[in-house]
Amino acid sequence: MLPFFAAHWTLSVLFQSLFQHRYAAHRMFTMTPRAERALHLGTALVQGSSYLDPRAYAILHREHHAYADTVRDPHSPAHHKHLPRMMLETGRRYGGLLTGNVQAEARFTGGYPQWPAVDRFFSSWASRLGFGALYTLVYKRFATRRWHWALLPVHFVMGPVHGAIVNWCGHRYGYRNFKIRDQSRNTLPLDVVCMGELFQNNHHARPASPDFAAKRFELDPTWQVMRLLARLRLIRVSHAPPSQPAAAGERRQRPTRRLLMRRKAHGTPTFECPS
Ligand SMILES: [Zn+2]
Ligand SMILES: [Zn+2]
Repeated sequence: MLPFFAAHWTLSVLFQSLFQHRYAAHRMFTMTPRAERALHLGTALVQGSSYLDPRAYAILHREHHAYADTVRDPHSPAHHKHLPRMMLETGRRYGGLLTGNVQAEARFTGGYPQWPAVDRFFSSWASRLGFGALYTLVYKRFATRRWHWALLPVHFVMGPVHGAIVNWCGHRYGYRNFKIRDQSRNTLPLDVVCMGELFQNNHHARPASPDFAAKRFELDPTWQVMRLLARLRLIRVSHAPPSQPAAAGERRQRPTRRLLMRRKAHGTPTFECPS
């Protein structure tokens, strides 16, 4: 069962970092409409019962950057007394954005991918319960030890579990490379557990950089995946990281006439987190 758990954990957080965070919330890279649809659907299938709607995620995350660790931050250990409380309030706001009961400031909206049929279906209880049943069947077939079953509930809420680890630990435990106003920390120098998401201090200091690692000893796995996708010409990285001005994706970003015209019409594609 452990390989299945490890694969679901790693792929879920990789797709969250790549699609919901770096693409939907920050627009750190661009791709063709067909590639965007493939990534959107792939994310939904991988995240399954805890699929995160890219619009609600992007708005919530942009609010987090703009109000980091203040009382208006939707999730911060600085003003939420304990982890369950933070998760509960984050879940409430996310649900409100999903249903339209919560209205966001205009500056936080727009620029994220939307696919109403997919977003509606994978956010429905029918889908959540269906995926939950599927995970249970996998355990029924392959679990060989009793304790394996203790891992099953994590599959149901994988997305919120990753969010809780990143939002709590990334603003509470670890070291800081940059002295900035918020409480963000880098929790692990080699963040393979959350695919680079735990470099919160680096990311808050340089929100437009697609590489969340900032020091030589740090490694951001999702950035390595982005470099590979850029080499394969599946994505175009919008800005090279400060430490690698000639990174692979950046070379392909050399502006074509079409790109220059699109930039003129819509502005630079990266969302730099308004404050
Ligand atoms: Zn943060
Ligand atoms: Zn961010």
